[in-house]
Amino acid sequence: MWTYHPDLLARPVPRYTSYPTAAEFTGAVCSSDMAGGLANLDVNENVSLYLHIPFCREICWYCGCNTGAATRQARLDAYVGRLHEEIDLVAAQLGGRGRVRRIALGGGSPNAIAPTAFSALLEHVERAFRTNRPIVSVELDPRGFDRNWAAALADAKIQRASLGVQSFDTTVQKLIGRVQPHAHIARTVELLRQAGIESLNFDLMYGLPSQDSAVLLETLEAAVSLAPDRLAVFGYAHVPQLIPRQRRIDQTRLPGSAERFHQAADAHAFLVAKGFQPVGFDHFARPDDPLAVAARRGQLRRNFQGFTDDTASCLLGVGASAISGFPDRLVQNEKNTGKWHLAISAGRFPVERGIYRSPGDRVRGRAIEQLLCEGEVDLASVLDQTCLRAPLLDFEQRGLLAWHGSTIVLADDALPYARAIAARIDAYRDQSAGRFSNAV
Ligand code: SF4
Repeated sequence: MWTYHPDLLARPVPRYTSYPTAAEFTGAVCSSDMAGGLANLDVNENVSLYLHIPFCREICWYCGCNTGAATRQARLDAYVGRLHEEIDLVAAQLGGRGRVRRIALGGGSPNAIAPTAFSALLEHVERAFRTNRPIVSVELDPRGFDRNWAAALADAKIQRASLGVQSFDTTVQKLIGRVQPHAHIARTVELLRQAGIESLNFDLMYGLPSQDSAVLLETLEAAVSLAPDRLAVFGYAHVPQLIPRQRRIDQTRLPGSAERFHQAADAHAFLVAKGFQPVGFDHFARPDDPLAVAARRGQLRRNFQGFTDDTASCLLGVGASAISGFPDRLVQNEKNTGKWHLAISAGRFPVERGIYRSPGDRVRGRAIEQLLCEGEVDLASVLDQTCLRAPLLDFEQRGLLAWHGSTIVLADDALPYARAIAARIDAYRDQSAGRFSNAV
């Protein structure tokens, strides 16, 4: 059982889907830096492509994603048309370099666009880039998912899908502005399996309004009964000062910090008892799922999409707000879709900001990734470990980590503290603590 140390979780910390984190990005990185990153790729370098669709059928009140309501068909059509142009811009700059081994569509909700538009996008990617039997994954909103979408996924031979579920509880659903009946989610799962989806993930949340451990466990029971291959269980981060749409959530009904911690612990214990393998600090997978296999083999990675079995060193993001990651730089597209449109129509990469990764950043970033993915890391290369021993002392004294020479090893019950421990290795912290969520 996990032990609650509120003082160790008091400080908001990043999720570390990149290092340096997006909070360190600046406007000093621009279109030419994206062009340079693409020009530096090796001919046969494995590349993962991410296509961002920033629209949803309905906007959930808790959501922190860069997304808007898909209310006007003309706006969606214009966006998808421009996405095709951005694909051509990127492909032209690559000039045949790189091999696309993974394609992920996320958002927002990719199924906010028409299934025919989705199929056309994938076909365009296959024509524009050198691909090599890519693994294709897609995030889906059960609301609006139907037979036509299932047929499009089957035709495109999509292997992986992730469903936004969050909670099966009808009271919680109303309080977060995401009403989706259990029967509809079950039907969506049935259609996805018939369409050939091999690896199916559910995103779930704890710390939601009116949710206690009993309510959460009912959701987990309902989720497991639908036989997903993976589950991600995220803590809801209530930051209405940063995400105005969260003001619709009644914060008087939110569980407190201790209750949140116990919900995370109960979810972990429940899923492990059901045979799921914990992956990182908030994912779970059936032992034969590629994510669980990667974790056991020490091949788990962390990128903008969370924990992944994708080992590509280059991730190309296409679409408004999408982030591209190269070994030496991180580059983020314009979040504002108007500016994004304008840049592409002018033939420029629509870059808003980013950061160059110094050699020290890369070493530290790899150390943080390893700590979060494997639960241990040799810090010999990070710097003088004597400088790190003091910042990590409070975790060491509570038995949450141990030093073996220059290696730190997290204890089994240190998972909820992993991000907080990583933040002590992060050279940038202290500068922007107010922009993050609590680790649990
Ligand atoms: S469907 Fe997903 S991306 Fe869209 S608003 Fe809801 S949580 Fe956000």
